[in-house]
Amino acid sequence: MAWDFETDPNFQRELDWIDSFVREEVEPLDAVLGSPWDIDAPNFETLVRPLQAQVQQRRLWACHLGPELGGQGYGQVKLALMNEILGRSAFAPIVFGCQAPDSGNSEILAHYGTPEQKRRWLEPLLANRIVSCFAMTEPQGGADPSVLTTRAVRDGDGWRISGHKWFASNARYAAFFIVMAVTDEMVSVYEGTSMFIVPAGTPGLRILRNSGCGDEPEATHAYLEFDDVRVGADSLLGTPGEAFAVAQVRLGGGRVHHAMRTIGQAQKALDALCERALSRNTQGSRLADKQMVQEKIADSWIELEQFRLLVMRTAWRIDRYRDYRQVRKDIAAVKAAMPKVLHDIAARALHLHGSIGVSSEMPFAAMVNRSFQMGLADGPTEVHKITVAKQVLRGYLACEDTFPAYHRPTVEARARAKFAGRLA
Ligand SMILES: Cc1cc2nc3c(=O)[nH]c(=O)nc-3n(C[C@H](O)[C@H](O)[C@H](O)COP(=O)(O)OP(=O)(O)OC[C@H]3O[C@@H](n4cnc5c(N)ncnc54)[C@H](O)[C@@H]3O)c2cc1C
Repeated sequence: MAWDFETDPNFQRELDWIDSFVREEVEPLDAVLGSPWDIDAPNFETLVRPLQAQVQQRRLWACHLGPELGGQGYGQVKLALMNEILGRSAFAPIVFGCQAPDSGNSEILAHYGTPEQKRRWLEPLLANRIVSCFAMTEPQGGADPSVLTTRAVRDGDGWRISGHKWFASNARYAAFFIVMAVTDEMVSVYEGTSMFIVPAGTPGLRILRNSGCGDEPEATHAYLEFDDVRVGADSLLGTPGEAFAVAQVRLGGGRVHHAMRTIGQAQKALDALCERALSRNTQGSRLADKQMVQEKIADSWIELEQFRLLVMRTAWRIDRYRDYRQVRKDIAAVKAAMPKVLHDIAARALHLHGSIGVSSEMPFAAMVNRSFQMGLADGPTEVHKITVAKQVLRGYLACEDTFPAYHRPTVEARARAKFAGRLA
């Protein structure tokens, strides 16, 4: 019997340290600093770097990476337990060296980069001396890659890239961009798209503007223009036409890690919901004593626990099978469930706090907005539900008969045939 919900005591000690370190040292950064990716900000050196050093000393830096890349090679179950704590704070991933999109970009570089690409980009990225940007989505559409129009054409031994990219996160801080561009129009976009590394500052690459989500103080999602951008042959990442296969390397793990951190966000909203319910009195009793409030608390706890179990089992299956194709359904399910869980719990917390709940003095409006972001980034919920449904349907066959196999008269007839001669 191998069902087990216990954490190894040695690892629990690490989790306890991470929990108090994040609450006491990292979460306060969220209240006073700007974007975690703005690594050149003056306060970053004085406030964030010392915390990163502590994490490195404790051997908890970039735990998603193998030891050959300076990580701990943690499996996904350990990462899940760790990430649900990191999810409490916007700065925690950068303090622990596992922030998106750099984590995914480093995985791509580690898998497909040439020795020179690794030396130039991967090494400083892993040390958080630089940050990066992943540019795939275009203004005319993100959920459907077949509408990609950014092109790269050969130019001597290099390439020229032209097109526009949209919602490229952290472009303004990035030292380099990983860009998807069509290189062969004679085949499907899935076979004719390639990946390039474009250094920031390359002539022709411009940020047209930056958008923010909701009322974020800093707009960090870029509308990019590639105006005949010339890059060398050494900028190609992987082989021509391989971009979608390469992208899967970053997306599979990335989606699960977002889900793990969403548990931390939703737990934070639930903590606030419970504190408020116990603290606020109206019409002669605490909010916590009203049954409709109790229902909100119960629903939130149940939804979060269900989601957490789904995430943990998905993590366990990734470790078990070591093959993302075998856990496609699970990962897509987690991705589809995550925005709703965060949305519903954060919205209940917002509502229960009344006027202060909707105000900019509380984090709930941003959390609700973030739930919508999670339903879009790395693909809209609908697309992932389609994946789940297709995978589920693979386990079924159509019924050849006019009436369904579970039609009562048919079931009874089968049972009577089975027990023929034995039924009293
Ligand atoms: C916070 C955030 C960060 C992001 N960062 C990056 C980044 O760094 N790099 C990058 O390249 N992109 C990034 N994106 C873009 C993201 O990948 C796209 O938003 C996503 O792929 C959806 O594309 P779209 O926004 O063009 O929406 P559309 O493709 O226009 O889809 C809009 C809506 O149409 C519906 N829809 C779409 N397809 C279907 C379908 N098959 N069936 C039913 N309904 C459907 C859904 O309701 C969907 O929400 C980011 C997005 C967000 C919100």
